[in-house]
Amino acid sequence: MAEKANLAKSDFLSSMSHELRTPLGAILGFAQLIESGTPPPSSSQKRSIDQILKAGWYLLELINEILDLALVESGKLSLSMEAVSLPEVMLECETMIEPQATKHDIKVTFTPFDMPCFVHADRTRVKQIVINLLSNAIKYNRAGGTVRIDHSLTLPNSIRISVRDTGAGLAPEQLSQLFQPFNRLGQQAKVEEGTGIGLVVSKRLTELMHGEIGVESTVGQGSVFWFELKLTAKPLLAAHAAEPAALTSAQGEGDAPLHSLLYVEDNPANLMLVEDLIARRPDIRFLSAQNGIQGIEIAQALRPDVILMDINLPGISGIEAMRILAKDPATAHIPVIALSANAIPRDIEKGLEAGFFSYLTKPLKVNEFMVTLDVALKLSDLEAPCATHKEET
Ligand code: MN
Repeated sequence: MAEKANLAKSDFLSSMSHELRTPLGAILGFAQLIESGTPPPSSSQKRSIDQILKAGWYLLELINEILDLALVESGKLSLSMEAVSLPEVMLECETMIEPQATKHDIKVTFTPFDMPCFVHADRTRVKQIVINLLSNAIKYNRAGGTVRIDHSLTLPNSIRISVRDTGAGLAPEQLSQLFQPFNRLGQQAKVEEGTGIGLVVSKRLTELMHGEIGVESTVGQGSVFWFELKLTAKPLLAAHAAEPAALTSAQGEGDAPLHSLLYVEDNPANLMLVEDLIARRPDIRFLSAQNGIQGIEIAQALRPDVILMDINLPGISGIEAMRILAKDPATAHIPVIALSANAIPRDIEKGLEAGFFSYLTKPLKVNEFMVTLDVALKLSDLEAPCATHKEET
């Protein structure tokens, strides 16, 4: 019964988080719209908008953490275990954490690997664990402190990644409370936001990958958070080279012909937000459809230059609509950008496999959206004359 109750709780949290993201999308979307609008907001309005955005993005982070925890606890999380190159993952983490380190004025040092090293793990989830430990080490550090990331082999066949900070350190009674949700330590004294859920999720993830996670700490000197994963042989096939789509910048845009964008979306607030954004671009005509079938019909009839596709749609899903568009020679060349509230890495991978040009998550980030839109438009200019039909497996 207790297990059943726990499952029900996880289901509730998961659907709840999803429901919370939708109104938050409108709050963050329209606040960004005002922030970047013309005429620009006055300085006192700007201060208010900054507060809305700051609180909004933080709320989103919390919702994502809860969603993640619910997913891990429900046992619905499926890992894709493979031979993962640890040096590669660490390099990606180094790039990802840099802005946060700079912002907090913390020096982060990675000990380089002197030989190839593969672990049996889920790539996305290893990254999630490393980023979580790193961002904690930065957040709970002292001003001007350091973070050091080391690795060492442990018997019989594992590798340990350690993240050492120069923060306040944790007393034994505090250590015993770690890895429990909503038990963030020393909240009275700290100004940093956080729930402690990240560590709980990291622990579950490590265990799911047959590893271990732990901490050692000295009050006044700092803490070392570590995790261990099983080493494995190098995969036979060359590691999947994740090359970013190399796009040559289009030459001479002088008098660009009129572009058109089709947005397939059932949520009126989202439709309005994107319509308002596109209204700032006189070179783009805005078309919309409220469900997948209607979207496909409009795409076939009007051949827009770019399609923006919601995933959760009434009737056929955005993924199914994408597959139909990709099979039809009339629409196969049109770049389709997914815009979905499903922010789980697995969903994003599934989306990209279905053939989406790019996968953006709600709440929409105005800058990211505009950049993606421009890249898609350039691609559509290049590909328009003769459609290259590509088949995905
Ligand atoms: Mn929807």
